[in-house]
Amino acid sequence: MAVSISTLCISCGACVDTCPHEALFLGDTKAEVIPDKCVECGECIEVCPTNAITLPEGVKPAAASEPVVEPKEQKIETKAEVDEKPAQVAQVIEKPAVKLPESEYQGVWIYIEQRNGKIAPVSLELLGEGRKLADKLGVELAGVLLGNNVRHLTKTLYEHGADTVYLMDDPVLDQYRSEAYQVGVVDFVRKYKPEILLFGATAIGRDLASTVATELGTGLTADTTRLDIDMQNRLLEASRPAMGGNIMATILCKVQRPQMASVRPKVFKAIQPIAGRTGNLIEEKINVKEADLRTKVISVALDVSDKIRLSDADIIVAGGKGLQDEKGFRLVHELAEVLGAAVGASRDAVEAGWASHSQQVGQTGTTVAPKLYFAIGISGAVQHTVGMENSEIVVAINKDPNAQIFEKCTYAIVGDAFEIVPKFIEEFKKLKQGGERKHG
Ligand SMILES: Cc1cc2nc3c(=O)[nH]c(=O)nc-3n(C[C@H](O)[C@H](O)[C@H](O)COP(=O)(O)OP(=O)(O)OC[C@H]3O[C@@H](n4cnc5c(N)ncnc54)[C@H](O)[C@@H]3O)c2cc1C
Repeated sequence: MAVSISTLCISCGACVDTCPHEALFLGDTKAEVIPDKCVECGECIEVCPTNAITLPEGVKPAAASEPVVEPKEQKIETKAEVDEKPAQVAQVIEKPAVKLPESEYQGVWIYIEQRNGKIAPVSLELLGEGRKLADKLGVELAGVLLGNNVRHLTKTLYEHGADTVYLMDDPVLDQYRSEAYQVGVVDFVRKYKPEILLFGATAIGRDLASTVATELGTGLTADTTRLDIDMQNRLLEASRPAMGGNIMATILCKVQRPQMASVRPKVFKAIQPIAGRTGNLIEEKINVKEADLRTKVISVALDVSDKIRLSDADIIVAGGKGLQDEKGFRLVHELAEVLGAAVGASRDAVEAGWASHSQQVGQTGTTVAPKLYFAIGISGAVQHTVGMENSEIVVAINKDPNAQIFEKCTYAIVGDAFEIVPKFIEEFKKLKQGGERKHG
Protein backbone atom coordinates (compact mmCIF):
# COMPACT_ATOMS: atom_id res chain seq x y z
CA MET A 1 0.00 0.00 0.00
CA ALA A 2 1.11 3.54 -0.73
CA VAL A 3 -0.26 7.04 -1.14
CA SER A 4 -2.16 7.85 -4.37
CA ILE A 5 -1.51 10.96 -6.43
CA SER A 6 -4.40 12.33 -8.48
CA THR A 7 -4.43 14.53 -11.58
CA LEU A 8 -4.86 17.56 -9.29
CA CYS A 9 -1.04 17.38 -9.01
CA ILE A 10 0.69 20.46 -10.49
CA SER A 11 4.21 18.95 -10.40
CA CYS A 12 5.41 21.59 -7.96
CA GLY A 13 7.80 19.08 -6.38
CA ALA A 14 6.89 19.94 -2.78
CA CYS A 15 6.10 16.31 -1.95
CA VAL A 16 9.29 15.02 -3.61
CA ASP A 17 11.42 17.43 -1.59
CA THR A 18 9.61 16.58 1.64
CA CYS A 19 9.38 12.78 1.48
CA PRO A 20 11.84 11.43 4.09
CA HIS A 21 11.89 8.01 2.36
CA GLU A 22 12.64 9.17 -1.20
CA ALA A 23 9.46 7.42 -2.28
CA LEU A 24 8.32 10.13 -4.71
CA PHE A 25 9.61 11.49 -8.00
CA LEU A 26 8.34 13.88 -10.69
CA GLY A 27 6.93 11.96 -13.65
CA ASP A 28 6.04 13.37 -17.08
CA THR A 29 2.77 14.98 -16.03
CA LYS A 30 2.63 14.63 -12.23
CA ALA A 31 4.41 13.31 -9.17
CA GLU A 32 4.64 9.50 -8.96
CA VAL A 33 5.08 7.17 -5.99
CA ILE A 34 7.45 4.20 -5.58
CA PRO A 35 5.16 1.83 -3.62
CA ASP A 36 8.02 -0.23 -2.13
CA LYS A 37 9.49 2.86 -0.48
CA CYS A 38 6.29 4.60 0.70
CA VAL A 39 5.51 4.05 4.40
CA GLU A 40 2.30 6.17 4.35
CA CYS A 41 3.71 8.66 6.84
CA GLY A 42 1.55 11.42 5.33
CA GLU A 43 4.30 14.08 5.18
CA CYS A 44 3.72 14.57 1.45
CA ILE A 45 -0.03 15.13 2.05
CA GLU A 46 0.81 17.91 4.44
CA VAL A 47 2.83 19.92 1.92
CA CYS A 48 0.76 19.28 -1.22
CA PRO A 49 -0.79 22.66 -2.20
CA THR A 50 -3.54 21.10 -4.33
CA ASN A 51 -4.67 18.22 -2.09
CA ALA A 52 -3.70 15.77 -4.82
CA ILE A 53 -2.31 13.12 -2.46
CA THR A 54 -4.43 10.74 -0.43
CA LEU A 55 -3.81 7.76 1.81
CA PRO A 56 -5.44 4.39 1.17
CA GLU A 57 -8.90 4.26 2.73
CA GLY A 58 -8.90 3.69 6.48
CA VAL A 59 -5.19 4.42 6.92
CA LYS A 60 -4.32 7.23 9.35
CA PRO A 61 -1.19 9.22 8.59
CA ALA A 62 1.49 9.00 11.23
CA ALA A 63 1.99 12.78 11.01
CA ALA A 64 -1.68 13.49 11.75
CA SER A 65 -1.23 12.41 15.36
CA GLU A 66 1.53 15.00 15.84
CA PRO A 67 -0.19 18.36 16.25
CA VAL A 68 1.41 21.01 14.03
CA VAL A 69 -0.40 23.93 15.67
CA GLU A 70 -1.69 24.39 19.17
CA PRO A 71 -4.60 21.90 19.42
CA LYS A 72 -7.00 24.33 21.11
CA GLU A 73 -6.72 26.78 18.22
CA GLN A 74 -7.31 24.02 15.71
CA LYS A 75 -10.63 23.11 17.21
CA ILE A 76 -11.97 26.66 17.33
CA GLU A 77 -10.95 27.45 13.78
CA THR A 78 -12.31 24.37 12.10
CA LYS A 79 -15.20 23.19 14.25
CA ALA A 80 -17.90 23.64 11.63
CA GLU A 81 -15.96 21.86 8.95
CA VAL A 82 -14.92 19.02 11.26
CA ASP A 83 -18.52 18.43 12.28
CA GLU A 84 -19.85 18.39 8.75
CA LYS A 85 -17.17 16.76 6.64
CA PRO A 86 -15.65 13.28 6.54
CA ALA A 87 -12.53 12.71 8.61
CA GLN A 88 -10.06 12.90 5.77
CA VAL A 89 -11.26 16.35 4.61
CA ALA A 90 -11.21 17.59 8.18
CA GLN A 91 -7.55 16.62 8.50
CA VAL A 92 -6.69 18.67 5.43
CA ILE A 93 -8.55 21.72 6.75
CA GLU A 94 -6.84 21.52 10.14
CA LYS A 95 -3.38 21.91 8.65
CA PRO A 96 -1.65 25.26 8.74
CA ALA A 97 -1.00 27.17 5.51
CA VAL A 98 1.04 25.03 3.16
CA LYS A 99 4.53 26.25 2.45
CA LEU A 100 5.35 25.93 -1.24
CA PRO A 101 8.95 25.23 -2.22
CA GLU A 102 9.11 28.92 -3.20
CA SER A 103 8.46 29.92 0.41
CA GLU A 104 11.74 31.85 0.42
CA TYR A 105 9.45 34.38 -1.29
CA GLN A 106 7.76 36.35 1.49
CA GLY A 107 5.83 39.56 1.82
CA VAL A 108 3.29 41.65 -0.05
CA TRP A 109 4.71 44.46 -2.18
CA ILE A 110 2.94 47.41 -3.76
CA TYR A 111 4.54 49.30 -6.62
CA ILE A 112 4.24 52.98 -5.66
CA GLU A 113 3.48 54.98 -8.77
CA GLN A 114 4.47 58.64 -8.62
CA ARG A 115 4.69 61.45 -11.12
CA ASN A 116 6.58 64.63 -10.33
CA GLY A 117 6.77 63.55 -6.70
CA LYS A 118 3.00 63.03 -6.37
CA ILE A 119 1.84 59.54 -5.39
CA ALA A 120 -0.93 58.09 -7.58
CA PRO A 121 -4.06 57.57 -5.42
CA VAL A 122 -4.29 53.93 -6.57
CA SER A 123 -0.96 53.18 -4.84
CA LEU A 124 -2.39 54.30 -1.50
CA GLU A 125 -5.57 52.31 -2.19
CA LEU A 126 -3.38 49.26 -2.82
CA LEU A 127 -1.44 49.80 0.39
CA GLY A 128 -4.82 49.66 2.18
CA GLU A 129 -5.78 46.38 0.55
CA GLY A 130 -2.21 45.05 0.72
CA ARG A 131 -2.26 45.60 4.48
CA LYS A 132 -5.20 43.17 4.77
CA LEU A 133 -3.49 40.55 2.59
CA ALA A 134 -0.18 40.87 4.47
CA ASP A 135 -1.92 40.57 7.85
CA LYS A 136 -3.76 37.49 6.65
CA LEU A 137 -0.49 35.89 5.56
CA GLY A 138 1.38 37.14 8.62
CA VAL A 139 4.03 38.89 6.52
CA GLU A 140 5.36 42.40 5.87
CA LEU A 141 3.74 44.96 3.61
CA ALA A 142 6.20 46.93 1.52
CA GLY A 143 6.11 49.78 -0.99
CA VAL A 144 8.51 49.85 -3.96
CA LEU A 145 9.30 53.47 -4.74
CA LEU A 146 11.37 54.58 -7.73
CA GLY A 147 11.97 58.14 -8.90
CA ASN A 148 14.15 61.23 -8.59
CA ASN A 149 14.01 63.20 -5.33
CA VAL A 150 11.19 61.05 -3.98
CA ARG A 151 12.69 60.08 -0.62
CA HIS A 152 10.27 62.39 1.23
CA LEU A 153 7.33 60.24 0.03
CA THR A 154 8.38 57.34 2.29
CA LYS A 155 6.70 59.08 5.24
CA THR A 156 3.30 58.95 3.50
CA LEU A 157 3.81 55.28 2.67
CA TYR A 158 4.52 54.26 6.26
CA GLU A 159 1.52 56.26 7.42
CA HIS A 160 -0.63 54.40 4.89
CA GLY A 161 0.41 50.96 6.13
CA ALA A 162 3.82 50.08 4.64
CA ASP A 163 6.22 48.33 7.03
CA THR A 164 9.14 48.71 4.64
CA VAL A 165 9.91 50.92 1.67
CA TYR A 166 12.30 49.72 -1.06
CA LEU A 167 13.72 52.90 -2.56
CA MET A 168 15.72 53.78 -5.68
CA ASP A 169 16.23 57.52 -5.97
CA ASP A 170 18.25 58.61 -8.99
CA PRO A 171 18.11 61.28 -11.74
CA VAL A 172 17.84 58.52 -14.37
CA LEU A 173 14.41 57.74 -12.86
CA ASP A 174 13.18 61.32 -13.18
CA GLN A 175 10.52 60.55 -15.82
CA TYR A 176 8.90 57.13 -16.17
CA ARG A 177 10.60 54.97 -18.79
CA SER A 178 9.85 51.25 -18.81
CA GLU A 179 13.45 50.31 -19.62
CA ALA A 180 14.87 51.87 -16.44
CA TYR A 181 11.94 51.21 -14.11
CA GLN A 182 11.74 47.56 -15.15
CA VAL A 183 15.41 47.00 -14.24
CA GLY A 184 14.88 48.66 -10.86
CA VAL A 185 11.79 46.65 -9.88
CA VAL A 186 13.19 43.35 -11.21
CA ASP A 187 16.47 43.84 -9.30
CA PHE A 188 14.54 44.47 -6.08
CA VAL A 189 12.38 41.36 -6.62
CA ARG A 190 15.34 39.11 -7.41
CA LYS A 191 17.18 40.25 -4.31
CA TYR A 192 14.39 40.50 -1.72
CA LYS A 193 11.83 37.99 -3.13
CA PRO A 194 8.24 39.09 -2.40
CA GLU A 195 5.48 36.50 -2.74
CA ILE A 196 2.94 39.04 -4.05
CA LEU A 197 3.56 42.15 -6.16
CA LEU A 198 0.69 44.52 -7.03
CA PHE A 199 0.49 47.46 -9.44
CA GLY A 200 -2.24 50.02 -10.10
CA ALA A 201 -3.88 49.35 -13.49
CA THR A 202 -2.96 52.82 -14.78
CA ALA A 203 -1.13 53.52 -18.04
CA ILE A 204 2.22 53.31 -16.21
CA GLY A 205 1.22 50.40 -13.96
CA ARG A 206 -0.03 48.31 -16.88
CA ASP A 207 3.12 48.95 -18.88
CA LEU A 208 5.51 48.25 -16.02
CA ALA A 209 3.70 45.21 -14.61
CA SER A 210 3.75 43.41 -17.96
CA THR A 211 7.45 44.05 -18.62
CA VAL A 212 8.40 43.04 -15.07
CA ALA A 213 6.32 39.83 -15.26
CA THR A 214 7.87 38.93 -18.60
CA GLU A 215 11.41 39.49 -17.32
CA LEU A 216 10.72 37.44 -14.16
CA GLY A 217 8.88 34.70 -16.08
CA THR A 218 5.92 34.80 -13.71
CA GLY A 219 2.15 35.19 -14.11
CA LEU A 220 0.26 38.49 -14.10
CA THR A 221 -3.49 38.96 -13.69
CA ALA A 222 -4.39 42.24 -15.36
CA ASP A 223 -7.17 44.60 -14.32
CA THR A 224 -8.12 42.82 -11.12
CA THR A 225 -11.16 44.04 -9.20
CA ARG A 226 -11.06 41.68 -6.19
CA LEU A 227 -8.18 40.18 -4.18
CA ASP A 228 -8.09 37.53 -1.50
CA ILE A 229 -5.87 34.80 -0.11
CA ASP A 230 -6.53 31.07 -0.28
CA MET A 231 -5.08 30.41 3.15
CA GLN A 232 -4.90 26.66 2.77
CA ASN A 233 -2.58 26.90 -0.20
CA ARG A 234 -1.15 30.36 0.51
CA LEU A 235 -2.18 31.58 -2.93
CA LEU A 236 -3.29 35.01 -4.11
CA GLU A 237 -6.81 34.87 -5.56
CA ALA A 238 -7.02 37.64 -8.16
CA SER A 239 -10.50 38.06 -9.64
CA ARG A 240 -11.52 40.04 -12.70
CA PRO A 241 -14.43 40.16 -15.15
CA ALA A 242 -14.02 37.66 -17.98
CA MET A 243 -15.99 36.36 -20.99
CA GLY A 244 -17.16 39.82 -21.98
CA GLY A 245 -17.81 40.73 -18.35
CA ASN A 246 -20.43 38.03 -17.85
CA ILE A 247 -18.47 36.08 -15.25
CA MET A 248 -15.88 36.85 -12.58
CA ALA A 249 -12.80 34.68 -13.08
CA THR A 250 -10.47 33.98 -10.17
CA ILE A 251 -6.93 33.51 -11.41
CA LEU A 252 -4.17 31.74 -9.47
CA CYS A 253 -0.44 31.68 -10.05
CA LYS A 254 0.35 28.35 -8.42
CA VAL A 255 4.00 27.77 -9.10
CA GLN A 256 5.95 30.88 -10.08
CA ARG A 257 6.79 33.70 -7.68
CA PRO A 258 6.01 36.50 -7.16
CA GLN A 259 2.27 36.30 -7.85
CA MET A 260 1.51 39.51 -9.74
CA ALA A 261 -1.63 41.50 -10.44
CA SER A 262 -2.56 44.94 -11.65
CA VAL A 263 -5.57 46.41 -9.86
CA ARG A 264 -8.06 48.96 -11.09
CA PRO A 265 -8.07 52.38 -9.42
CA LYS A 266 -11.02 53.20 -7.15
CA VAL A 267 -11.80 49.56 -6.40
CA PHE A 268 -10.21 49.58 -2.93
CA LYS A 269 -10.01 52.25 -0.27
CA ALA A 270 -6.85 53.68 1.26
CA ILE A 271 -6.68 53.37 5.05
CA GLN A 272 -6.89 56.42 7.28
CA PRO A 273 -3.23 57.47 7.57
CA ILE A 274 -1.69 56.94 11.00
CA ALA A 275 0.28 60.11 11.70
CA GLY A 276 3.85 59.46 12.81
CA ARG A 277 3.84 55.72 11.85
CA THR A 278 7.33 54.75 10.64
CA GLY A 279 9.01 51.75 9.04
CA ASN A 280 12.19 50.34 7.51
CA LEU A 281 13.96 51.81 4.53
CA ILE A 282 15.92 49.60 2.14
CA GLU A 283 17.71 51.65 -0.47
CA GLU A 284 19.54 50.33 -3.52
CA LYS A 285 21.28 51.97 -6.46
CA ILE A 286 19.68 51.64 -9.90
CA ASN A 287 21.76 49.49 -12.18
CA VAL A 288 21.15 51.68 -15.27
CA LYS A 289 22.93 54.74 -16.65
CA GLU A 290 21.39 57.42 -18.83
CA ALA A 291 23.65 56.33 -21.71
CA ASP A 292 22.19 52.78 -21.55
CA LEU A 293 18.66 54.00 -22.27
CA ARG A 294 17.23 54.16 -25.78
CA THR A 295 14.26 56.32 -24.77
CA LYS A 296 14.82 60.02 -24.12
CA VAL A 297 12.09 62.26 -22.71
CA ILE A 298 12.18 65.51 -24.69
CA SER A 299 9.17 67.22 -23.11
CA VAL A 300 6.07 66.37 -21.14
CA ALA A 301 2.65 67.75 -22.11
CA LEU A 302 -0.36 67.67 -19.82
CA ASP A 303 -3.68 66.66 -21.39
CA VAL A 304 -6.20 69.20 -20.14
CA SER A 305 -8.95 68.37 -22.64
CA ASP A 306 -11.25 67.14 -19.89
CA LYS A 307 -12.03 69.95 -17.45
CA ILE A 308 -12.47 67.48 -14.59
CA ARG A 309 -10.81 64.08 -14.72
CA LEU A 310 -13.30 61.24 -14.52
CA SER A 311 -11.31 59.29 -11.94
CA ASP A 312 -11.04 62.31 -9.60
CA ALA A 313 -14.63 63.61 -9.94
CA ASP A 314 -17.08 63.75 -7.04
CA ILE A 315 -20.01 64.05 -9.46
CA ILE A 316 -20.25 62.37 -12.86
CA VAL A 317 -22.99 62.84 -15.43
CA ALA A 318 -22.82 59.94 -17.88
CA GLY A 319 -24.83 59.50 -21.05
CA GLY A 320 -25.57 56.57 -23.32
CA LYS A 321 -27.02 55.57 -26.64
CA GLY A 322 -30.50 56.56 -25.46
CA LEU A 323 -29.53 60.19 -26.11
CA GLN A 324 -29.86 59.40 -29.82
CA ASP A 325 -27.22 61.69 -31.34
CA GLU A 326 -24.45 64.17 -30.63
CA LYS A 327 -26.98 66.96 -30.14
CA GLY A 328 -28.89 64.86 -27.60
CA PHE A 329 -25.62 64.08 -25.78
CA ARG A 330 -25.11 67.84 -25.26
CA LEU A 331 -27.71 67.58 -22.48
CA VAL A 332 -25.12 65.57 -20.53
CA HIS A 333 -22.60 68.41 -20.90
CA GLU A 334 -25.19 71.01 -19.86
CA LEU A 335 -26.12 69.14 -16.70
CA ALA A 336 -22.44 68.47 -15.92
CA GLU A 337 -21.64 72.17 -16.39
CA VAL A 338 -24.29 73.35 -13.94
CA LEU A 339 -23.26 70.71 -11.36
CA GLY A 340 -19.51 71.19 -11.79
CA ALA A 341 -19.36 67.51 -12.74
CA ALA A 342 -17.22 65.39 -15.07
CA VAL A 343 -18.77 63.93 -18.23
CA GLY A 344 -18.88 60.14 -18.59
CA ALA A 345 -20.23 57.88 -21.32
CA SER A 346 -21.16 54.32 -22.14
CA ARG A 347 -19.11 52.51 -24.75
CA ASP A 348 -21.89 52.80 -27.30
CA ALA A 349 -21.90 56.58 -26.88
CA VAL A 350 -18.11 56.60 -27.32
CA GLU A 351 -18.32 54.41 -30.39
CA ALA A 352 -20.94 56.76 -31.83
CA GLY A 353 -18.35 59.53 -31.54
CA TRP A 354 -20.27 61.64 -28.96
CA ALA A 355 -17.58 61.28 -26.29
CA SER A 356 -13.88 60.36 -26.12
CA HIS A 357 -12.53 57.04 -24.88
CA SER A 358 -11.10 58.80 -21.81
CA GLN A 359 -14.73 59.46 -20.84
CA GLN A 360 -15.83 55.83 -21.13
CA VAL A 361 -16.93 54.22 -17.89
CA GLY A 362 -16.77 50.46 -17.52
CA GLN A 363 -14.81 47.32 -18.05
CA THR A 364 -12.80 48.65 -20.98
CA GLY A 365 -12.96 52.24 -19.79
CA THR A 366 -12.40 53.87 -16.42
CA THR A 367 -13.58 52.58 -13.04
CA VAL A 368 -15.15 55.40 -11.05
CA ALA A 369 -16.51 55.82 -7.53
CA PRO A 370 -17.96 59.35 -7.28
CA LYS A 371 -20.34 60.58 -4.60
CA LEU A 372 -23.05 61.09 -7.24
CA TYR A 373 -23.42 59.34 -10.63
CA PHE A 374 -26.09 60.18 -13.19
CA ALA A 375 -26.73 57.42 -15.77
CA ILE A 376 -28.81 58.95 -18.55
CA GLY A 377 -30.08 56.77 -21.40
CA ILE A 378 -27.73 53.96 -20.34
CA SER A 379 -29.14 50.43 -20.31
CA GLY A 380 -26.87 49.15 -17.51
CA ALA A 381 -25.01 46.32 -19.22
CA VAL A 382 -22.67 44.56 -16.80
CA GLN A 383 -19.64 45.88 -18.70
CA HIS A 384 -20.80 49.39 -17.83
CA THR A 385 -21.96 48.81 -14.25
CA VAL A 386 -18.73 47.04 -13.28
CA GLY A 387 -17.08 50.44 -13.70
CA MET A 388 -19.54 52.54 -11.65
CA GLU A 389 -21.14 50.27 -9.07
CA ASN A 390 -19.00 51.68 -6.25
CA SER A 391 -20.59 55.13 -6.69
CA GLU A 392 -22.25 56.35 -3.49
CA ILE A 393 -25.51 57.59 -5.06
CA VAL A 394 -26.69 56.61 -8.53
CA VAL A 395 -29.52 58.43 -10.30
CA ALA A 396 -30.69 56.54 -13.39
CA ILE A 397 -32.95 58.02 -16.06
CA ASN A 398 -34.31 55.56 -18.59
CA LYS A 399 -37.58 55.26 -20.45
CA ASP A 400 -37.57 51.45 -20.14
CA PRO A 401 -38.91 50.48 -16.67
CA ASN A 402 -37.12 47.13 -16.99
CA ALA A 403 -33.71 48.60 -17.81
CA GLN A 404 -30.89 46.77 -15.98
CA ILE A 405 -29.46 50.05 -14.70
CA PHE A 406 -32.37 50.30 -12.27
CA GLU A 407 -30.93 47.30 -10.38
CA LYS A 408 -27.82 49.34 -9.62
CA CYS A 409 -29.30 52.72 -8.77
CA THR A 410 -30.34 54.63 -5.66
CA TYR A 411 -32.99 56.72 -7.48
CA ALA A 412 -34.77 55.36 -10.56
CA ILE A 413 -36.49 57.83 -12.86
CA VAL A 414 -38.57 56.15 -15.55
CA GLY A 415 -39.17 58.55 -18.41
CA ASP A 416 -37.84 60.39 -21.41
CA ALA A 417 -34.42 61.94 -20.80
CA PHE A 418 -35.30 64.78 -23.20
CA GLU A 419 -38.12 65.84 -20.87
CA ILE A 420 -36.46 65.10 -17.52
CA VAL A 421 -32.88 66.35 -17.94
CA PRO A 422 -33.83 69.93 -19.03
CA LYS A 423 -35.97 70.15 -15.87
CA PHE A 424 -32.99 69.06 -13.75
CA ILE A 425 -30.80 71.66 -15.46
CA GLU A 426 -33.38 74.39 -14.86
CA GLU A 427 -33.84 73.48 -11.17
CA PHE A 428 -30.10 73.16 -10.46
CA LYS A 429 -29.50 76.51 -12.17
CA LYS A 430 -32.11 78.12 -9.91
CA LEU A 431 -30.55 76.52 -6.81
CA LYS A 432 -27.12 77.67 -7.90
CA GLN A 433 -28.26 81.24 -8.57
CA GLY A 434 -30.12 81.29 -5.24
CA GLY A 435 -26.97 80.08 -3.48
CA GLU A 436 -24.82 82.66 -5.26
CA ARG A 437 -27.24 85.50 -4.31
CA LYS A 438 -27.27 84.31 -0.69
CA HIS A 439 -23.49 84.31 -0.45
CA GLY A 440 -22.74 87.18 -2.43
C1 LIG B 1 -15.73 43.02 -23.88
C2 LIG B 1 -16.71 44.14 -23.76
C3 LIG B 1 -16.33 45.27 -23.06
C4 LIG B 1 -17.22 46.34 -22.92
N1 LIG B 1 -16.83 47.43 -22.20
C5 LIG B 1 -17.74 48.41 -21.97
C6 LIG B 1 -17.41 49.53 -21.15
O1 LIG B 1 -16.28 49.68 -20.67
N2 LIG B 1 -18.36 50.45 -20.93
C7 LIG B 1 -19.62 50.36 -21.47
O2 LIG B 1 -20.45 51.26 -21.21
N3 LIG B 1 -19.94 49.32 -22.25
C8 LIG B 1 -19.03 48.37 -22.53
N4 LIG B 1 -19.38 47.33 -23.35
C9 LIG B 1 -20.65 47.41 -24.10
C10 LIG B 1 -21.85 47.02 -23.27
O3 LIG B 1 -22.05 45.64 -23.35
C11 LIG B 1 -23.13 47.71 -23.80
O4 LIG B 1 -23.29 47.39 -25.15
C12 LIG B 1 -23.11 49.23 -23.67
O5 LIG B 1 -22.78 49.59 -22.34
C13 LIG B 1 -24.48 49.77 -24.03
O6 LIG B 1 -24.43 51.17 -24.05
P1 LIG B 1 -25.74 52.01 -23.78
O7 LIG B 1 -26.33 51.60 -22.49
O8 LIG B 1 -25.40 53.44 -23.97
O9 LIG B 1 -26.68 51.61 -25.02
P2 LIG B 1 -27.97 50.71 -25.09
O10 LIG B 1 -27.70 49.37 -24.54
O11 LIG B 1 -28.43 50.81 -26.50
O12 LIG B 1 -29.00 51.40 -24.12
C14 LIG B 1 -29.63 52.61 -24.36
C15 LIG B 1 -30.63 52.82 -23.25
O13 LIG B 1 -31.23 54.09 -23.39
C16 LIG B 1 -32.63 53.98 -23.08
N5 LIG B 1 -33.29 55.08 -23.79
C17 LIG B 1 -33.57 55.20 -25.13
N6 LIG B 1 -34.15 56.39 -25.38
C18 LIG B 1 -34.26 57.03 -24.19
C19 LIG B 1 -34.79 58.27 -23.81
N7 LIG B 1 -35.29 59.13 -24.70
N8 LIG B 1 -34.77 58.60 -22.50
C20 LIG B 1 -34.26 57.76 -21.56
N9 LIG B 1 -33.75 56.55 -21.89
C21 LIG B 1 -33.73 56.19 -23.17
C22 LIG B 1 -33.01 52.62 -23.56
O14 LIG B 1 -34.17 52.16 -22.88
C23 LIG B 1 -31.79 51.81 -23.23
O15 LIG B 1 -31.88 51.22 -21.96
C24 LIG B 1 -18.52 46.27 -23.51
C25 LIG B 1 -18.88 45.11 -24.20
C26 LIG B 1 -17.99 44.08 -24.32
C27 LIG B 1 -18.42 42.86 -25.06
